[in-house]
Amino acid sequence: MLKTPIYMDNHATTRTDPRVLDVMLPYFTEKFGNAASRNHSFGWEAEEGVVRARNQIAALIGGKAKEIIFTSGATESDNLAVKGVLEFYKDKGNHIITCVTEHKAILDSCRALERAGKATVTYLAVDKYGMVDPDDVRSAITDKTVLISIMWANNEIGTIHPIAEIGKIAKEKGIVFHSDAVQAVGHIPVDVEKNGVDLLSLTAHKLYGPKGCGALWVRSKGPRVRITPIIDGGGHERGMRSGTLNVTGIVGFGAAAEIAAKEMNEEAERLREMRNKLQAGLFERLDEIYLNGHPTERLPGNLNVSFAYVEGESLLMGINDVAVSSGSACTSATLEPSYVIRALGTNEELAHSSIRFGVGRFNTDEEVDYVTERVTKEVRRLREMSPLYEMAKEGIDLKSVSWKA
Ligand code: PLP
Repeated sequence: MLKTPIYMDNHATTRTDPRVLDVMLPYFTEKFGNAASRNHSFGWEAEEGVVRARNQIAALIGGKAKEIIFTSGATESDNLAVKGVLEFYKDKGNHIITCVTEHKAILDSCRALERAGKATVTYLAVDKYGMVDPDDVRSAITDKTVLISIMWANNEIGTIHPIAEIGKIAKEKGIVFHSDAVQAVGHIPVDVEKNGVDLLSLTAHKLYGPKGCGALWVRSKGPRVRITPIIDGGGHERGMRSGTLNVTGIVGFGAAAEIAAKEMNEEAERLREMRNKLQAGLFERLDEIYLNGHPTERLPGNLNVSFAYVEGESLLMGINDVAVSSGSACTSATLEPSYVIRALGTNEELAHSSIRFGVGRFNTDEEVDYVTERVTKEVRRLREMSPLYEMAKEGIDLKSVSWKA
């Protein structure tokens, strides 16, 4: 039996896996100690859980357990990476290279440093598929560049960047390389050694772990990367992130990482099949629909499409038993089209009509079929009410029409 509402927005967050919850629960009750309490068994028990999680997470990304710094989530990890590197290496330089489709946690951290007069930032453009060109990274490097920050995979369009190539350039030039790998870790292979990454942002809630728990992985050797903390206090996490550890969250994060390491390859195959089925189903049934993002170098569960002549927000309202995202973010008073979709060179109308589907672990084939039919029906209904769609179907070139106010 199909149960609604259907959740297909797994880039926004994922449901905590019941196996992860089982691991977490005792840490709320019997094992509630503070991992920093060194003088009794409650503290030791909590610390044991944290150490296990460090190992589980490090194993998933090919790093060392001691290189994991726990944070409150990837927003903090991104802030710590960007601001922490800039501050530590300020005598060496103040230039950052990043790209226009990064998450706001990176973009706004860069802007804050620019406003404070602490950094100059190059925001690289992307191609029509949302991909950064490694040659552009190389050309942007100056003798003041201290940080390159390029995300592993984009959260809206799923495009996977050529991380290994960028890592090679960064190594060659001796520049610290950070990657926000939030959408990639646990979904596709991420190996910090093979890809020459120096800092990596992660968060538990995108890989079926709990919310409010993240990590920044910081390379300790070859070269040793340093950061200045952005939170002062008790000196936890080797002084890089003070604050009592979220032990329940951390043990859940670890369990989620271990499950991902075991099941990721098989799961990716299953998600890719479901995503492809959804994509084929929509493209077979509807005309004037456009794929956003890279056709092949894309996260397995990601599908981002624009339905011409349909407002993304109206479509979402019409399919209120299906949870997906539109490319328009309701920011304060204005409804702005997604800056990520706009960066692909897509026109404003098509950007407004984009929808992001995120197929995940708990979705079924039956749900994919239901969503395909539901979206198709609603797009057709909205287009029936659209004079523009009607005109376009009659062969009128809408660009040649001069509209009167
Ligand atoms: N970076 C990317 C690419 C994301 O998708 C997200 C979450 O939406 C974040 C950072 C922020 O992560 P968190 O919710 O853990 O702060």
